[in-house]
Amino acid sequence: MSVKVCKFGGTSMADGNVIKNVKKIIESDSARKFIVVSAPGKRYSGDVKVTDLLYACHEKIMSEGSANGSFSAVRARYENIVNELGLNFDINSVLDETEKAIERECDEDFTASRGEYLCARIMAEALGAKFIDAADVIFFKENGALDGTRSYKAVAEALSRVKLAVFPGFYGTGANGKVKTFSRGGSDISGAIVARAVGASLYENWTDVSGFLACDPRIVDSPKCIKTISYKELRELSYMGANVLHNESIFPVRKANIPVQIKNTFRPEDEGTSILPTSRYIPSGKTVTGIAGKKNFTVIFIEKSLMNSEIGFICKVLDVLAKEKVSIEHIPSGIDTMSLVIESAELDNFKLERILEGIKNAVEPDIIRVIENIALIATVGHGMSSSVGTSARLFNAIASAKINIKMIDQGSSELNIIVGVKNDDYEKCIRAIYGEFFG
Ligand code: ASP
Repeated sequence: MSVKVCKFGGTSMADGNVIKNVKKIIESDSARKFIVVSAPGKRYSGDVKVTDLLYACHEKIMSEGSANGSFSAVRARYENIVNELGLNFDINSVLDETEKAIERECDEDFTASRGEYLCARIMAEALGAKFIDAADVIFFKENGALDGTRSYKAVAEALSRVKLAVFPGFYGTGANGKVKTFSRGGSDISGAIVARAVGASLYENWTDVSGFLACDPRIVDSPKCIKTISYKELRELSYMGANVLHNESIFPVRKANIPVQIKNTFRPEDEGTSILPTSRYIPSGKTVTGIAGKKNFTVIFIEKSLMNSEIGFICKVLDVLAKEKVSIEHIPSGIDTMSLVIESAELDNFKLERILEGIKNAVEPDIIRVIENIALIATVGHGMSSSVGTSARLFNAIASAKINIKMIDQGSSELNIIVGVKNDDYEKCIRAIYGEFFG
């Protein structure tokens, strides 16, 4: 029998009326058995997500020793939801307990996790489903990574013989036994863990958009929606900033070849985007699947004659960065040159100075130069490797827009070409590439 795991994001949980739609969606398909929810998100632009209210609450507890009224905005959100849903559920006692617990625990992750906890408690009531606390079934290892083996087993055990269950997303239990959250947007990962644990036939991720768009709609007006995309393409695009799904959320489902469907809670009839294992993915015939990018990178350019024949050169350079605990995004290289592309946020002035000094000492380069304010743009698609002339089309489009390319990196899978341009050219460059391949 097919089992679907459905994750509903913050905007799908924003208020009681939207939750009524969510309930209809779940009840319209008996395969939708295991539900993962985020905390209520924004109801309108300018509104504040419950998770952000909770982080503010934690700040208050840290500075003043108690929540001092800062929990009242959180309380009001949940009271309204319960009223709008017309539920006979004593949410006030749960809120009282929660307020006491966050003051007592005085722990940022615990406080932030209560957004999902409260939402899942209400959703379980609304659906007449079993509430399963993520703290009892999702576990992290000592190093902070997910303990997949333990979590999949615990989720599967908790769900055996359960017909309908609701889980709070975003958190689990750390190696120290305390509640620990994933990074922001992490309920997507929780949904993927549950899907993997039960061997779901589909992981539905319900959001407020009708699928994954070929590029950022703030840059290109109404870009095309991607109907199917492979895990690998999605990973490339979401890593580069396309943020419909948390960029780590595909790992659990990918291993088990479980497809993911992105759906829109506000337009459930829209098809959405299917994210498929690469083996089951049938290329759309399009050369490019999508374009994504990020601003604010720093490039350290190094030149040294006969660099290639100097054994251990790259290793020595990378060692300098490892000692400074800086991660590198890309390392395009030539015979006598290499560039290190680093997210600028990783570098404060002193760190950059120390890295430059370290590299000079370690490898004595002929030239070492820093280029700042670089944006990276990834053009991604399985079709790129098989169509002749793709890079020519890409570079021509960029040249015709009179944009100077500062760096090029073609992923070894030939799945993507990444170009580095000035931050100021970022939007123009995305429009040029989109125009060429989708216009
Ligand atoms: N509520 C959390 C956040 O705002 C997690 C999530 O929405 O997935 O980041």
